[in-house]
Amino acid sequence: MHHGYAKSIASLERAKRSLAGGVSSNVRAGDKPFPLYFERGMGSKLWDVDGNEYIDFVLGRGPLFLGHTHAGVIEATCKQLQMGQIYAAQHELEIELAERVCRIVPCADLVRFGISGSEAVHGALRLARAATGRKTVIKFEGQYHGWLDNILYSLGPDPTRAGEWDHPRTLAESPGQFDGEESHVVVLPWNHLPTLEQYLDQHRGEIAAVITEPVMCNTAVIPPLPGFLEGMRELCTKHDVVLIFDEVITGFRLSLAGAQGRFGIKPDLTIFGKAIANGMPISCLAGIEKYMRLIAAGKVGHGGTYNSIPPAVAGAIATLDALEQDEHAAYAAADRAGLALVDGLRGLAKKLNLPLVVQGYGVIFYLGFPKQGVALHEGQAITDYRTSLTMDQDLYSAFVSDIVGRGVRIIPRGNWFLSSAHTDDDVAATLEAAEAALIEVV
Ligand code: PLP
Repeated sequence: MHHGYAKSIASLERAKRSLAGGVSSNVRAGDKPFPLYFERGMGSKLWDVDGNEYIDFVLGRGPLFLGHTHAGVIEATCKQLQMGQIYAAQHELEIELAERVCRIVPCADLVRFGISGSEAVHGALRLARAATGRKTVIKFEGQYHGWLDNILYSLGPDPTRAGEWDHPRTLAESPGQFDGEESHVVVLPWNHLPTLEQYLDQHRGEIAAVITEPVMCNTAVIPPLPGFLEGMRELCTKHDVVLIFDEVITGFRLSLAGAQGRFGIKPDLTIFGKAIANGMPISCLAGIEKYMRLIAAGKVGHGGTYNSIPPAVAGAIATLDALEQDEHAAYAAADRAGLALVDGLRGLAKKLNLPLVVQGYGVIFYLGFPKQGVALHEGQAITDYRTSLTMDQDLYSAFVSDIVGRGVRIIPRGNWFLSSAHTDDDVAATLEAAEAALIEVV
């Protein structure tokens, strides 16, 4: 039974009088049906202040690969909290974590820890520019690498202003950022090697780095087309450009060694956050010795009061313990639940005769509704930002608002996160709610 949202509504009203916009991140203002207030999470479930229970596929927007309030992570974090919160000094747990990441992650010869993914991206871009002595960075349209000035470009640009698909303009996402050429950021379409090849050929010696999510998770969930990442790797090597994999979402999710492990492609620098510590705030910049030694030698600046704070490091180690346990059983569990959902949603599409797009993986997938008149191809339907615009975002928002009322919490952008805590019962209940919501809104 749904208990309504009276307490959440009252809390949001109260919050708006002191907290800008009533939320602590602009992204949360877009939650459906509106920003709700939660008081408890456990496993795959979350409870709001009105007493409504949700099967949660938001999972903190990615971190909770082991589910909410994982016993091992909580115990390790609390144990460390009793020993001190912050030393502003070295501690042995950070060595243990660094050694673990270097053992697990193909490109990690050396690492540094921070708090947020955004700042680790900032560190990678600075390092790439310092190492190459070049200014320009290439990113891909529709990709998100954090909210900082140097990279918050063309995440969801208005297509009428964004230029040709193979020649996108660099558009700032927020007033206050440098625009266009001043930004030293060039935007290209994802999954299309010839445009990258041509750009690098025409701008030899100018490009410091190519930064990419190895699977595009912030616009739909778009796997790389065959040969795309391999080709990108070859081109970056040929042009002596630093290849940065932003694995803030894919890291410790697509496999223990992230997307680089799953696809067998080694970037030069990489960034982790989210699932590395199952909800504790920690990020990681890792990379090959050739570049990371500039930080090691103190030549390239990197700092932060909260870097490597012991409770978060303890939480990360406990997370890796759980992920490595029983031959990576957590991955099999999350994948199984996710693939069952993918299958079930495709089955609903057939049953209800709806042209749903369901693509991605088990551990993370995308659900979208094509706009009227859009023809679908077999298999993967969305391959880059421009093709993602064929999806009906308003209709999906209505679906999200409806299914939340049926006890299933999902992200309004269409990506679903899975955890090892999701059960067969969760899958069955979710599919039942999805069917009812589809019948109601589509
Ligand atoms: N990179 C990617 C791919 C992300 O999805 C995010 C956040 O969602 C970030 C970077 C920024 O991380 P944070 O929010 O921890 O600053």
